[in-house]
Amino acid sequence: MSELNYEAPDTLDAAIGLLAGDETARVFAGGTDLLVQLKEDLREPGLLVDIKRIQEVREISIGDADVRIGAAVTGAELGEHDVLKALWPGVVEAVNLIGSDQVQGRATIGGNLCNASPAADSVPAMVAAGAKAAISGPDGNREVAIDDLMTGPGQTTLGRGELVTAIVLPKPPARSGDAYLRFIPRTEMDIAVVGAGISVTLNDDGTCVAARLALGAVGPTVKLVDAACTALVGNTLDEATLEALTQAARAACSPIDDKRGTAEFRTNVAGVLARRVAAIAWQRAENS
Ligand SMILES: Cc1cc2nc3c(=O)[nH]c(=O)nc-3n(C[C@H](O)[C@H](O)[C@H](O)COP(=O)(O)OP(=O)(O)OC[C@H]3O[C@@H](n4cnc5c(N)ncnc54)[C@H](O)[C@@H]3O)c2cc1C
Repeated sequence: MSELNYEAPDTLDAAIGLLAGDETARVFAGGTDLLVQLKEDLREPGLLVDIKRIQEVREISIGDADVRIGAAVTGAELGEHDVLKALWPGVVEAVNLIGSDQVQGRATIGGNLCNASPAADSVPAMVAAGAKAAISGPDGNREVAIDDLMTGPGQTTLGRGELVTAIVLPKPPARSGDAYLRFIPRTEMDIAVVGAGISVTLNDDGTCVAARLALGAVGPTVKLVDAACTALVGNTLDEATLEALTQAARAACSPIDDKRGTAEFRTNVAGVLARRVAAIAWQRAENS
């Protein structure tokens, strides 16, 4: 086994310098994915750069137009943030589904994103919310849509020396709601067989004016289902709308068969979850 070094800088610039200086270096946030991968020899970095001492990646700030969640904010911290829970309940619920209480105390929203699992719970909710990843690196700062960050299982568009510093969520318009649900074969501590996140905005008469549905674990990356928007916008949530949404969700699926579920099962469940999240988000939008 090769040598593994550990650094815990307290500034972003220092972290970027360390990451850029070693092509094998990896960001270490909660370590709940990374430590497992190291133990199983799935990754062999020469350097771990712990980002949890960097203040700006640990903060949640609520601005006039958007909300910034530091990449190293944990699930437990998000679950205690009442303003965020009121603005984007589906995103917080998705992060809070990760693991157990113990895992919640370590696991970060940025780690869930950058681990780039197609089954990561927070990602469909963030894609549905229209979130962006704020990225810093040797060439400066940039923002990318969450749906453009992951390119395949375990793969992202992050370049050498780059790290995600924050998740940027827009402030939702009035009469908006979001929701996330997943299917797992037991009640907790399992990986999504399918996950579905949605956000909707309604008119005063209950007609949908904007919608985003994203599905996890039905393809190599989380999928934004454009046809779901077509199914919902301009309509109220009647059976015809729900059926159109169900079909749109199923048509977007290209899952694998594995021990967690067959492709046919996953495709079927995607339609069921799409309906259920739409109903929850609709109710939240009506009550907001
Ligand atoms: C028992 C257990 C149960 C779990 N249950 C679930 C579950 O239900 N749902 C689910 O989705 N996941 C689950 N996970 C996986 C894991 O907990 C989550 O993916 C978690 O959010 C990862 O966050 P972390 O901070 O621990 O990431 P780390 O392990 O520190 O990092 C994960 C990866 O992302 C990279 N990374 C981390 N932060 C950044 C950053 N800011 N910028 C660039 N790269 C970065 C790291 O280099 C590494 O490659 C579980 C894990 C365990 C051990």
